[in-house]
Amino acid sequence: MPALEQRSIFIRSGEQQNEGVLHLQAFTPQERLVRAAKVWGLSWLLAVLSLPIIGAHWVLVPGFLLAGPIWAFKRYRTPAVPDHVTGHCPSKQEEISLPLEASDSLPMWTHCPVCHASLQLVEREQSALP
Ligand SMILES: [Zn+2]
Repeated sequence: MPALEQRSIFIRSGEQQNEGVLHLQAFTPQERLVRAAKVWGLSWLLAVLSLPIIGAHWVLVPGFLLAGPIWAFKRYRTPAVPDHVTGHCPSKQEEISLPLEASDSLPMWTHCPVCHASLQLVEREQSALP
């Protein structure tokens, strides 16, 4: 079970900004290895499964064979993935919780699930810059 980490961020909407909390799933080196092995295995399984597909197998089989180690390497190098953001919407001050995709990275734009204002999620270190 990956550990949940929290990081303080800013939620911005236009001129207003609020503090928010980014919740991340952090992986130990062993968990990263397991995640990498899983994606590699899945990719090569797909390569085997695409063998009987006449025509497409010329592309799919080498594609999945190559993608396996590449995806595995990318996954191994990922120390943590974003899970969700909690905080208060700068626009109407309501409490919000924004689900994030594993591929999301800050800074990013999204919108408030309650009032649909566009929100920018920014890491605190970056917001200190001019
Ligand atoms: Zn809102």
